[in-house]
Amino acid sequence: MNLLLVEDNRSLAKLVAQKIKSKLNLHIDIAYTLAEAKELVKQKEYSLSLLDLNLPDAPNGEVVGYIYSKQIPAIVLTASLDEEVRQKILKKDVIDFVTKTSVNDVLYIVSKIERLLANRRHKVMVVDDSQLVRRKLSKLLRNQMFQVIEADDGEDALRKIDHDPDVRMVITDYNMPKMDGFDLTLRLRETYGKEELAIIAISSDESELVSSKFLKFGATDFLKKPFSTEEFNCRINNTIENLENIETILQMANRDYMTGAYNRRYFFDKMEPYYKKALEENKHIAIAMLDIDKFKSINDTYGHKAGDEAIKALANLLMDSTKGSDMVARFGGEEFCVLLKDISREDAFKFFEELRLKIVGMDVPVTESESVNFTVSIGVVTAKEDTLEQMINESDLKLYQAKNEGRNRVQMG
Ligand code: GH3
Ligand code: MG
Ligand code: MG
Repeated sequence: MNLLLVEDNRSLAKLVAQKIKSKLNLHIDIAYTLAEAKELVKQKEYSLSLLDLNLPDAPNGEVVGYIYSKQIPAIVLTASLDEEVRQKILKKDVIDFVTKTSVNDVLYIVSKIERLLANRRHKVMVVDDSQLVRRKLSKLLRNQMFQVIEADDGEDALRKIDHDPDVRMVITDYNMPKMDGFDLTLRLRETYGKEELAIIAISSDESELVSSKFLKFGATDFLKKPFSTEEFNCRINNTIENLENIETILQMANRDYMTGAYNRRYFFDKMEPYYKKALEENKHIAIAMLDIDKFKSINDTYGHKAGDEAIKALANLLMDSTKGSDMVARFGGEEFCVLLKDISREDAFKFFEELRLKIVGMDVPVTESESVNFTVSIGVVTAKEDTLEQMINESDLKLYQAKNEGRNRVQMG
């Protein structure tokens, strides 16, 4: 990804380029004049530009028009925010305005670019029966580098999100035929929690009841028409940033820091309700307890850090070998619990026997020249007990049987 900075103040240009390089590890080309910018644009494709409005050969923001004509997204750097200039430039769909009066502004630029790069990962759905409004909102969102899909009423939105469950934010109108914004919000919240999907409602309705009703129904935020482009951008970016923060917190709360596998608490939170259902519906599941054999000797021979590498390699192998609906959790030091869904006793044995052999054949590099090998013992149970805990206790017993019978083996319950 190439960035272009057009700025005639050399020391400022260098400062910005250096901060972007050190914080984001991105390369940025610098042009000191409009003519130099044109030369660079001829040679390379740019995904983003930072533009000074006052250049020696373009004193009135001409560079914005040029970059706009080349369809390169732009952030404008200005010394002052004159309202007339602002309005003129907003028409050119710039991403943001940044004043350049202090070091804080440089930090803002860096965080803005970071935000835009993160936005590229997120999909947003715009729901409105007016094509004109949809187009306008989509354009604003694409300008902030989001992926965008459109729906023309609530029903259409529900259908589309079913096929596209990685939509992270829905921006919905209130009044729509078939299904309005209220009903859509309610229906979405039946499936998607606030921690996974943001809903922003937009309406020009004068009544204050509309906004409070939306928020009570589960909308994340509410925008009253008319709104400025900058207000829209700020709210959208804040909302997505909150979602990302929640994701980080959940990640930290539910997963083991060292391996990224789920922790024991999350395993029970998530699997106890599932286990009840599995009992009622007589679903086939398998639960396995795994433990590295003679792990102490890895620590003793190669050091604790090498031991950690072995544990991480095992966790990665377990997570890579299982499906998204299965569950891998680290229960103790070098002990993992694996729950497989919808699997027969025979297939469970095959799965864990193959896994055991993969582990036998795995070399884990611990220094530049050394690697360690290890084996695991596995206790597997497929017959269901009254509770999840009892079934896990049974697999634990089988694990100890596997250890007693010589290790590096799968013991079936
Ligand atoms: P066995 O075959 O019977 O399982 O023998 P073992 O040596 O693997 O058994 P044990 O469970 O007694 O030893 C596990 C050791 O793992 C003890 C502990 O110091 C070490 N350990 C626990 N957590 C970690 C960790 O996160 N990293 C490292 N490097 N070692 C750990
Ligand atoms: Mg062990
Ligand atoms: Mg152990």
